[in-house]
Amino acid sequence: MTDSAPANVIAGIAAAPGIGVGTAFVLRGGGSDRTAEETSAEISLEEAVERAAAHYTDLADRASARDRTDEAEVLGTYAMLVADPELVRAITAAAADQPLPAAVRSAGNEQADMLASLGDEYLAQRAEDVRAVVADLATVTAGGELATPEVPPGSVVVATDLSPADTAQIELDRVRALVVEGGGVTSHTAIVARSLGIPAVVGAEGAVAAIQQLASQDEVVTVIADGGSGQVTVAPSAGQLLEAEQEQARLRTRAEAAAELAGQPVHYDGHRVLVAANIGNSEELANATAARADGIGLYRSEFLFLDAPQAPRVSQQAEAYRAAAVAFTDPVIVRTLDIGGDKFVPWMRLPDEENPYLGVRGLRLCLAHPELFSPQIDALLVAAADGPLQIMLPMVTAVDDVRRAREVIDLRAAELGADVPPVGIMIETPAAALMAPHLARVVDFFSIGTNDLTQYTAAADRGAAALSAYHDPAAPPVLALCDLTIRAARDAGIPAGVCGGAAADPIPAALLVGMGAHELSVPPIQVDAIRMLVDGLDPEILDPLVTEALAAPSAAAVRSLVAHALGDLVA
Ligand code: PEP
Ligand code: MG
Repeated sequence: MTDSAPANVIAGIAAAPGIGVGTAFVLRGGGSDRTAEETSAEISLEEAVERAAAHYTDLADRASARDRTDEAEVLGTYAMLVADPELVRAITAAAADQPLPAAVRSAGNEQADMLASLGDEYLAQRAEDVRAVVADLATVTAGGELATPEVPPGSVVVATDLSPADTAQIELDRVRALVVEGGGVTSHTAIVARSLGIPAVVGAEGAVAAIQQLASQDEVVTVIADGGSGQVTVAPSAGQLLEAEQEQARLRTRAEAAAELAGQPVHYDGHRVLVAANIGNSEELANATAARADGIGLYRSEFLFLDAPQAPRVSQQAEAYRAAAVAFTDPVIVRTLDIGGDKFVPWMRLPDEENPYLGVRGLRLCLAHPELFSPQIDALLVAAADGPLQIMLPMVTAVDDVRRAREVIDLRAAELGADVPPVGIMIETPAAALMAPHLARVVDFFSIGTNDLTQYTAAADRGAAALSAYHDPAAPPVLALCDLTIRAARDAGIPAGVCGGAAADPIPAALLVGMGAHELSVPPIQVDAIRMLVDGLDPEILDPLVTEALAAPSAAAVRSLVAHALGDLVA
């Protein structure tokens, strides 16, 4: 990294790895409407709603046909949102004193602003959906078309935002990279790009204007989008192009070497290290099996609840868990509901909390809501009969809470006449790490959640961009708690894995393997790369490095000493 980036480099957020070089294709530059050539021929609201809904349904069908189930789901939601009677009523009222397209925008955006103002991440996402739908509806009422323009092969698509309706229409196999001004790493663009292996940068503010300025001088604008560093280079120099091409070649060689290891067991210091996948839905399960992961290290079951209008039935849950359990011979670890913190379930109507991350979250919430917890345990026990399913409890801070949860599991198993599968816990609070020797006596395995462990150790909100420098799992205090946890597990004879982001971040991941972690669980797309990392680690180099890292004064010092010692392996 250089201290001062060249003037043609925009710093965005790395959203999907890889480097894309191509001709900039600006989608909808300068406005939210879909076509540049709106006519003034307004059509009625009723007809516009019908056309927009039919358009979304058609796109949803196309997305399903391509197995892009997440996208299909969002597009199905769009079809419902656009016909929402409340929205239609508000637009009709607003249209009394202004033209219909303006009424659509004012009434629709008012509804979106209201949702966004509630300060909840889930509703903020819904607000973005409403905005996308409203922009489309305004276009149709003004006589415009909804079709996204055809993207030429070899393009880097640049946009202020990209909705699922856009990504469903763009021929993504023609696209070298996606650059979006808005959004975060969990935005729709980022998720689609990661699952398709397209490099992507989000939060690239100013990219559209920078490109349009050059394009207005009749220049064909080349763009380099680095989805690993988050940098977007507009109209690169010959030197910058050459550097990008060299980096692309390096990444290609690495990916080819990693692909050769796909599905092969990897070892460190004589013991096998599982490289498992983190998933939250059926699409990610398909990605995990395609990546030939060593089982599932973290199934975030709460996503079955967050996206539903009510609690899914026991049979629906059991079906989802069973689909994962039967797909692997290595353990499939399903985490019980981790609601609270930043994960909000609208239909539960839980009371507001002053500090949700320090509130009734994870296991605490499960214990306080047996009407949710017991049916989930039933579903897990049913699914565990068909595969290597294990149960994991989130956000543990006290031994007693774990004992109480185990009592519920034993009770439900007795009631159903089911066997009790292995039960483990996440170590994601300093309290749990410090109590690991006691906790190890009451559970069958640990899995370290470094996302929360780092947040609670550094007292730095994991979602706050301004605090990201504090939120580094390579920080010595976080490493010390991981080391303590892994030692306690070893002493008790139980396995300890890692399923937080550090497992997919080569520098802390290498150190965790050196400490003795049994499993690294990572997003499916990173399984190959992490397998190759583990395969390349040498105890003679790594053992002293762990000791040095634990004694280092900062995360930056840890990163620099590991990068220096392990070189290309962690680059
Ligand atoms: C973690 O906290 O590291 C973790 C894996 O759980 P989540 O990111 O779902 O909170
Ligand atoms: Mg967590």
